[in-house]
Amino acid sequence: MAKKKLAEYRAKRDFEKTAEPAGKTAVRAAEYPRFVIQKHDATRLHYDLRLEVDGVFKSWALTKGPSLDPHDKRLAVEVEDHPLDYGDFEGTIPKGEYGGGTVMVWDRGFWMPEGNKPAAEQLRDGELKFVLAGHKLKGGWVLVRMKGDRYGGKRNNWLLIKHRDEWAKTGDADKLLKKDRSAASGRTLGQIARGEGKAPQSFMLAKSRTKLTKPDAVWHSDTAESEEQAPPRRARARKTA
Ligand code: MN
Repeated sequence: MAKKKLAEYRAKRDFEKTAEPAGKTAVRAAEYPRFVIQKHDATRLHYDLRLEVDGVFKSWALTKGPSLDPHDKRLAVEVEDHPLDYGDFEGTIPKGEYGGGTVMVWDRGFWMPEGNKPAAEQLRDGELKFVLAGHKLKGGWVLVRMKGDRYGGKRNNWLLIKHRDEWAKTGDADKLLKKDRSAASGRTLGQIARGEGKAPQSFMLAKSRTKLTKPDAVWHSDTAESEEQAPPRRARARKTA
């Protein structure tokens, strides 16, 4: 299944030249699906949001990055599925290769869809409500697919919007993006580009993830509807980064 889904990912890359994973490493299921946001200093700086769904990372390029302000709807361009071991990739893709530039694991953690419909079904329907439990991003979010253009263009443009909850920050604009060290290695983009410092600790292959927040601990509780759908409560998430 994952093999077919990754055909486009593999076709775009020459694994003799790039250090990106070919997606051959088996990654076991975790207690929750995982997510990662990679800061990618390519031709144009952007952030790649990846959500684990059915054995691959569904992926979107955030041209301006995420915002904690529910008023800031951020363009999220759907791109090809990525292999799960891509979630540990931090390094530099050589110039001239696809996506050439430096990649930082900007945030990572667990996520879960809201409601009773599976994530894949919500994505097919063009609206995914979900909860993130990362280091930098927490709480409720929604991805909404924009209507296709009238010329029948591919409908791959989505909007990523922060849900109003205790982790939302009105007026925050891009302040969040100033948190600019790797969630995996603590390195800056410059340090990664120069090959300095330690490579990130594996998240996708790690056996123990006890230090991570569970997504049902950051479930927002501001509407009756979400109360209804909320899974059993656990301890409140700590607000540390
Ligand atoms: Mn990218």
